[in-house]
Amino acid sequence: MGKSGMDAFWMPYTANRQFKKTPRIIKAAEGAYYITDDGRRIFDGLSGLWTTGAGHNRVEIRDAVAHQLGTLDYSPAFQFGHPLAFELAERLVALAPETLDHVFYTNSGSECTDTATKIARAYWRQVGQPTKTKIIGRVKGYHGASWGAISFGGIPANKKLWGQGVDSDHMGHTLIPGNEFTRGLPQSGAELADELEGIIALHDASNVAAVIVEPIAGSAGVVVPPAGYLKRMREICDKHDVLLIFDEVITAFGRIGDWFAASAFDVVPDMLNVAKQITNGAIPLGAVLIKGDIYDAFMETAGAEYNIELPHGYTYSSHPVACAAAMASLDILEQDGLIERVAALSPTFETKIHELQGSPHISDIRNYGFAAGITLEPYPGEPTRRPMEVALSCWEKGFYVRYGGDTLQLGLPFITTEAEMDSVINAIGDSL
Ligand code: PLP
Repeated sequence: MGKSGMDAFWMPYTANRQFKKTPRIIKAAEGAYYITDDGRRIFDGLSGLWTTGAGHNRVEIRDAVAHQLGTLDYSPAFQFGHPLAFELAERLVALAPETLDHVFYTNSGSECTDTATKIARAYWRQVGQPTKTKIIGRVKGYHGASWGAISFGGIPANKKLWGQGVDSDHMGHTLIPGNEFTRGLPQSGAELADELEGIIALHDASNVAAVIVEPIAGSAGVVVPPAGYLKRMREICDKHDVLLIFDEVITAFGRIGDWFAASAFDVVPDMLNVAKQITNGAIPLGAVLIKGDIYDAFMETAGAEYNIELPHGYTYSSHPVACAAAMASLDILEQDGLIERVAALSPTFETKIHELQGSPHISDIRNYGFAAGITLEPYPGEPTRRPMEVALSCWEKGFYVRYGGDTLQLGLPFITTEAEMDSVINAIGDSL
């Protein structure tokens, strides 16, 4: 494809004018690499968009999808079911921390945000506390692009165009001076969770439904929680009867060397959102994992058995082809031992990524599992320009590295070799 014929597609979260002048067209993929329209092999340093840890074009997923398309391509999501949706739900709750024992399917992370927060607000109504409606997010949080997601998210550029959103407030983020260049979890800053106590006091607990957080904030540049911070948040939520929602759209299914951040950090939320890696990115699918007592509250208060307990869902909730892709994707994670691989190689990646400290313009490096964020010093008045320049230079060198805000982000495929780690990190260093 040349530069003509590109006008019609209004590209998402993209600098359309710049892209259409200098397009970056990916036409195929193989393992940890993309292949461009001019035949270059590009290392996929973000696993797609944190989606494709097991590597691209996995035959197991292709075959499962093809088989499903030839068996049951679609069935109505409302008032009817198909076997795979139940099987996958059982499998997800078996993997998740024990009390998360129900699954509500969506098609994306954004829909998970809306679903979990709608369930939170409706839950409090069902149990007789209808004033508990406010949702607390965090500065630097990212939960997607729906009305709920931009309301609870905390990235300024994603919020400023839209006017009034859904009732919310925000805690601060956890990037504090003194924690720069921390390897893994910062040891100081757990007390930042106490800010939640103040926000709940400000609005009164009788008005607060839930807190939604990414255990590790991804889009803001891999912001890793201080040790103990999430536990403290859990305690404060318990004390004030506020539900805790973990947005694990990036962290679930291996990215941090565990099935979930909830398991890795030993903090169990009331609801846990997943998407992306659940199908290795091959087919859109999201899911909210939910505590049994929330589900039970709806079952117990809905009246006659033929009443719909939760008037919510999507045409493609539990899409059979997506469920098939998810089953195959979970098989791959288990059979190839990819989560164990990420856990085993994370210390190596940590050592290597921190070797960039001292390179020009780097003001912070953060890492956990196979995720890393690098903050770059801004040009005066242009905080987002340098990461873009570095990432585009990496692209020229054969590496896809994500740029967002004042950060570069790496989310390596789970199959990345040590030599590939070296080469992508060297490409960043050379570009700087
Ligand atoms: N939540 C988190 C933590 C994400 O990183 C993302 C996407 O990057 C989303 C939600 C939104 O997911 P989607 O783009 O599938 O709606």
